[in-house]
Amino acid sequence: MGATGEGTFEITVLGSSDAFCSGGRLNAAYLFRAAGSSFLVDCGPTTLFALKQRGVDTGCLDFVIVSHMHGDHFAGLPFLLLEYMYENPRTRPFVIAGPADIEQRVWTLFETLYSDVHSTALPFALRFVELVPEQPTMIADVTVLPTRVPHQVEETSLALQLLAAGRRVLYSGDTPWVERFVELARGADLFLCECTAYQRSMGRHIEYEHLRTVLPRIAAKRLVLMHLGRDMRDHAASLGVECATEGLVIRL
Ligand SMILES: [Zn+2]
Ligand SMILES: [Zn+2]
Repeated sequence: MGATGEGTFEITVLGSSDAFCSGGRLNAAYLFRAAGSSFLVDCGPTTLFALKQRGVDTGCLDFVIVSHMHGDHFAGLPFLLLEYMYENPRTRPFVIAGPADIEQRVWTLFETLYSDVHSTALPFALRFVELVPEQPTMIADVTVLPTRVPHQVEETSLALQLLAAGRRVLYSGDTPWVERFVELARGADLFLCECTAYQRSMGRHIEYEHLRTVLPRIAAKRLVLMHLGRDMRDHAASLGVECATEGLVIRL
């Protein structure tokens, strides 16, 4: 499966759950296909499984964007790199983009999991791109515009605007509600908005009871809730708001 034709931007939900695989679902991962590239947004521990479950050739990926360095969003990267070393050997370059220190964090994780496999054994060029809040970065044919969100205090969590094929997707990453989403979502072709909790979020995530009060002001063309926790999943069918589910394909 390669990139789509000119003028389309296609998103497949690989994992719609929170860190706890609530409801037997998978960790956050979204497969994007633009005209000239295919890439992942977030890569949790279950992402390699999800790609293979959906019959996606892992070699089709050109890059991965990580919203923040919590395990459910980036702990799948060592397995993807291992896949490219041994199982589906890669020769063309690969890019991992994420917040500051992404390179060090990925290698620290890799070396923890596979201390006897050395990164020098990579048979392809791997480049890391540090995403700086409010600075647009072009990766292949995709413009990434990150915005810092208050999910973490000392480390950086990013929401992402992804622009390709004349379309714009807003991806909240993990975050409590931020008022700026009203402005960023206006006119977006898709707003993938986290909604981890139905009622209580402990402050790090969006809770539906709050989100529903701002829904009338979200003027995205399509809103899909994601990163659903246990309570939220239990309520998902009765809310009248679209919720992500594994295998959902969104064509823009
Ligand atoms: Zn998460
Ligand atoms: Zn997180």
